[in-house]
Amino acid sequence: MTALNTVLVVGAGLAGTATAIRLAEAGVAVDLAEIKPDVAALGSGITLQGNALRELRALGVWDAVSAAGYPFDVTGIRAPDPGGTVVAEIPDARTGGPELPAVMGMPRPVLARILADRAVESGAKLRLRTTHTALAQDADGVDVTFSDGSTGRYDLVVGADGIRSAVRGLLGIDPGIRPTGMGIWRAFGPRPDSVTRTDLFYGGPSYIAGYCPTSEDTLYAYVVEDARDRSGLSPAERLATMRELASAYHGPWDAVRATLTDASRISYTLFETHVLPAPWHRGRVVLIGDAAHSCPPTLAQGGAQALEDAAVLTELLLAAETLDDRLWTGFADRRCARAAAVVEASVQLGQWLLDREQGDVPGLIGRIAALVVQPA
Ligand SMILES: Cc1cc2nc3c(=O)[nH]c(=O)nc-3n(C[C@H](O)[C@H](O)[C@H](O)COP(=O)(O)OP(=O)(O)OC[C@H]3O[C@@H](n4cnc5c(N)ncnc54)[C@H](O)[C@@H]3O)c2cc1C
Repeated sequence: MTALNTVLVVGAGLAGTATAIRLAEAGVAVDLAEIKPDVAALGSGITLQGNALRELRALGVWDAVSAAGYPFDVTGIRAPDPGGTVVAEIPDARTGGPELPAVMGMPRPVLARILADRAVESGAKLRLRTTHTALAQDADGVDVTFSDGSTGRYDLVVGADGIRSAVRGLLGIDPGIRPTGMGIWRAFGPRPDSVTRTDLFYGGPSYIAGYCPTSEDTLYAYVVEDARDRSGLSPAERLATMRELASAYHGPWDAVRATLTDASRISYTLFETHVLPAPWHRGRVVLIGDAAHSCPPTLAQGGAQALEDAAVLTELLLAAETLDDRLWTGFADRRCARAAAVVEASVQLGQWLLDREQGDVPGLIGRIAALVVQPA
């Protein structure tokens, strides 16, 4: 018998929807509060590694994910020269197991819709445009006041509300988020036929320029540069800046660049990172996903780690008769070191580029693949 009857999950991203699906399927009454009016509002693409795909399959959404996304098993390394010369073709590790693709690109809004629909189908109550304004816990539960004035009492609150987590703020935890020194231009648009996998172009005016197919019809493309305050640029200036930076890259980039015409499809984001030391809970409130740890997307593991947090947390919760130290120690033991290793490696990859240092990139990627191929 589980220790839980009622759970509030704050945030309907990857971590939150995955938690809601697993708990609701087991018969727990789950409220899933999401501050945005729509989970599938505009967004770019996401690169999902095999271990993320393994978690998505366990959530019962593999058919929908594989029908919508674009799988591939090799990443190309290209030079910033006039031909976009292929320097290497590196097989990606199948970290979700041999029967799943190594990597899959997806439009973020499509993935968000699939997961939110599955959560609702599983019995979770999705409350859009809703957040909490107060949390007060005692030994037996958590009293929550919501932004619409309603209240609820829950056995557990899961803070899955992302890197700027308000739940974490209410717990009084300083996450120590720090910029890593890089910023990324991203654009979402049509997929030219020549883009059938991720290619990474190292060097030129930026650190990395690349793209990832996200469906038969779409891709996202990105250029990574030194972190800058780009907030003052108008939409037209943002488009011009990304086009200018991308003009150094050729091969399939030529066709991608030709599609960069819509300023509303361009975004700029600074890379940031943090890892909370264990434990990630305070009493009956626990933090998971980017609320607990965040990494620059150099290994494209943030989504996978969020899904793994949800998988391990819900497995332990559903097996426990009480929310006791044993449960929380088990959660910390299985998640903290693994997530921290992924964050550290993701930061290191970027740091080598910033320091213009060669670094053992294949060794590091191999180490993380060997770690995450193991079930969480
Ligand atoms: C530029 C960039 C590129 C990335 N690319 C990749 C990639 O290719 N592959 C990959 O695996 N990872 C990538 N990541 C990391 C990945 O996006 C995150 O690790 C992942 O989204 C974390 O999921 P999450 O559910 O913890 O948080 P989020 O996805 O941030 O979801 C949090 C949810 O909570 C909601 N919310 C926030 N505050 C509140 C509140 N107060 N009340 C209610 N709801 C709230 C938000 O609206 C959101 O829906 C990238 C990150 C960045 C910055």
